[in-house]
Amino acid sequence: MVLLASLGLRTARFGFRRNRLAYPPIQQLRAVSLQTSVSSISNANTNTNVNIMTNKSKKKATFDDNTERWVMRSLVAVTTVVVGLNIYWEIYKDELYPRQLSLEYYNFNKFPLLAVIPVTHDTSLFRFKAARQIPEQEELQKAHAKDRRNLTLTTNELVPAPNHIIIKDDTCQVGRAYTPISYSRDYFDLLVKKYPDGSVSSMIHNLIPGKDFILARGPILSFPYTENMADHIVMIAGGTGITPMYQLIKRILKDSTDKTSISLIYGSKTEADILLGNELQILAQKFPDRLKVNHVVQNISSNELPALTRVAVPADNGGDANKTGLTNLLAHRGLIDEKVLIECGVPRPDENPLVLVCGPDAMVEYLAGEKRAENNQGPLKGVLAKMGYTTQQVFKF
Ligand SMILES: Cc1cc2nc3c(=O)[nH]c(=O)nc-3n(C[C@H](O)[C@H](O)[C@H](O)COP(=O)(O)OP(=O)(O)OC[C@H]3O[C@@H](n4cnc5c(N)ncnc54)[C@H](O)[C@@H]3O)c2cc1C
Repeated sequence: MVLLASLGLRTARFGFRRNRLAYPPIQQLRAVSLQTSVSSISNANTNTNVNIMTNKSKKKATFDDNTERWVMRSLVAVTTVVVGLNIYWEIYKDELYPRQLSLEYYNFNKFPLLAVIPVTHDTSLFRFKAARQIPEQEELQKAHAKDRRNLTLTTNELVPAPNHIIIKDDTCQVGRAYTPISYSRDYFDLLVKKYPDGSVSSMIHNLIPGKDFILARGPILSFPYTENMADHIVMIAGGTGITPMYQLIKRILKDSTDKTSISLIYGSKTEADILLGNELQILAQKFPDRLKVNHVVQNISSNELPALTRVAVPADNGGDANKTGLTNLLAHRGLIDEKVLIECGVPRPDENPLVLVCGPDAMVEYLAGEKRAENNQGPLKGVLAKMGYTTQQVFKF
């Protein structure tokens, strides 16, 4: 800035000097004309008076010239500084005041990291700053049309769930999907598990709040859910696989026209690894007839198990969540398998539920067969196929 200002002043001075060279100096012209007129009307006797008058005029002329010069210089200096500042602003405005961008389907935009909150030993909540966009009518229509993929992000209600975004590691051009657990006016939140050798998850965990940013695009519809598409949805999740389920649970329970009931069977390694436990418990308590949450904890002793169950089910109801309707949070030990699914009371295949599966590859494969690619579900195999569910009834995230 200082450089530009001094450059402006120098240019002003230089410009003025050039002016003096290019055009006859005003005071010289005036002096010449004064002398001419004086000599034509004067004689030797009036020399003294004339000299006095000429000196006065000279003084006045010098005063006018100085003022004019000062005004000119100031004008040129101010103009140069203003132009310089404008150029500087145009070049550096994004760095001085980074524009807040919203998520876009096709473009990777920058989202500054605002805060990190550790949730478990390997998973943290990351809050990224993002601009709110008021959707155009056309965009809202798109949201309700069949192809809802190209939707500019707006507020929570307007983003069709379940959706995910793609985060790119610019150093190696690798992109991974992440499911925002909330979209807000000015930010979105992600729950990200750190894999020690994981490319993108490690990159995210190494970001510094207030300094670093991610490159992300989306939201992308993960599953084309429509209201009441099934009477009952069975959601089977493992680890961070809870995130799309949580999005969809919120969407379904918020929508008064949606009458779908949900059974969530959520597998975690230990009780400490359970993600969004409180949020799920609150929702289960608020909607006891529509949401049943079953925790399946791999490493939990028999002593600990009642403790987890007790969190949700008061001791005086004999451990039967359905009896009081106070809550539907129950715990099981081990891995999710056929026995656990039956214990959780999931609807039989002939009751035509929708079954959604999201979790580690090994878990998905064990329960529903391998998901081959982003757009290739692969054949239904594993536990769910054995139990009689059909390909049409099961979706793997
Ligand atoms: C729709 C969708 C939504 C998702 N939402 C979330 C979410 O909300 N939160 C979340 O945390 N995750 C989510 N995921 C998972 C996420 O996309 C990434 O897969 C995860 O973060 C790991 O990516 P990474 O680049 O860190 O690890 P990668 O580099 O892919 O590695 C993952 C693991 O595999 C191991 N590995 C890598 N390469 C090999 C190899 N060649 N052989 C053997 N092992 C290998 C690594 O050591 C590491 O442990 C979602 C996935 C999908 C598809």
